[in-house]
This record gives sequence, structure tokens and C-alpha cells, in this order.
Amino acid sequence: MALKLAKPDPKICVACGACIHQCPREAIQVVRGICAQVDADACIGCGLCRKACPADAITIVERGEEK
Ligand code: SF4
Ligand code: SF4
Repeated sequence: MALKLAKPDPKICVACGACIHQCPREAIQVVRGICAQVDADACIGCGLCRKACPADAITIVERGEEK
């Protein structure tokens, strides 16, 4: 399993969906049009979603620190 994980901040995310199309693992989706959510099992922590986010809502964290 990857050491890192993408963590969208629900207080900052504007649910634009820009991150979804960048993910090579289809690990991120916008749930109920409210906030991006990451499938922790699929995410490899590559950071492409973070680069694509216009709101700077995604942080790449070490696994175990994501809660
Ligand atoms: S860090 Fe990479 S694998 Fe994880 S959700 Fe973002 S784009 Fe997908
Ligand atoms: S690109 Fe950023 S603001 Fe847009 S849905 Fe993804 S995390 Fe939310």
C-alpha cells in the first residue's frame, strides 16, 4: 500500500470535480455534489489531484495521519 494519501478538506472543496479526471487510479470522486472523497485503498498518493485543484483543497498526507 502507498505511504501517502490524498485528503480533501470539506471546508475548502467547492465540488468542482477537476480532481476526478486527473486521478490515474479513479480513486477520487465528488460525493453528492458536496465534497471530493478519496478511496484510501485505491489512492497511491501521487498528488495529481492536488495539482489540479483550483481551490487548493487537497493535502497529501502520510498514511496514519489522515484522520
Ligand atoms: S493522490 Fe493520486 S491516486 Fe490519490 S486521489 Fe489524488 S490523483 Fe488519485
Ligand atoms: S478539484 Fe478541489 S475543489 Fe474541485 S472537487 Fe476536487 S478537491 Fe474539490
